[in-house]
Amino acid sequence: MAKPKATTTPRREIRCYLCGHVFDVSSMTMSVPCPRCNKALKVEDVHVKTYVPVNDLQTCGKITVAKNGRVVARVIRAGEGIDCEGTLEGAIEADDRVILNGKSTWKGKTLVTSALVIEDGAKLHGHVKVPWERPIPPPTPTTPPSSSSTRAARSTTEVKPTKDESTPSHVESPSMP
Ligand SMILES: [Zn+2]
Repeated sequence: MAKPKATTTPRREIRCYLCGHVFDVSSMTMSVPCPRCNKALKVEDVHVKTYVPVNDLQTCGKITVAKNGRVVARVIRAGEGIDCEGTLEGAIEADDRVILNGKSTWKGKTLVTSALVIEDGAKLHGHVKVPWERPIPPPTPTTPPSSSSTRAARSTTEVKPTKDESTPSHVESPSMP
């Protein structure tokens, strides 16, 4: 065998947590700009072992929170779900399964996920919506149908009798033998 190294990098499908666009990246990728909304996306898995106060904790991968881990964020988004043994504080949005271990705590406004596993002893404070699916973005915008909308607006104005000249001519012949 002459080949020194097989260069077939495995691909993985990710979904943008900001606009919902689905696309392929190399499995080695740790972050990538979304081709649709151009925002930088974190792709790698996140392991939380300590206290992590952030604005947003977002990844297309998975978030794992260890026993002593604690995330305090405005929004926590995970494309491949969350496995929590510690504490999560903030709104959670997960495309995949969220597992709340028996010793875990979640406190936030909303928790939306495709599937939720709550083990005995887990504490939840907030609104939970399961199953939840990220809304699929509309197809890439083409030229807006502006001509048809103006046509529709014109047809509704036709209902109003704006013409003054035609009305009297009709009224002049009310009685026919
Ligand atoms: Zn995007």
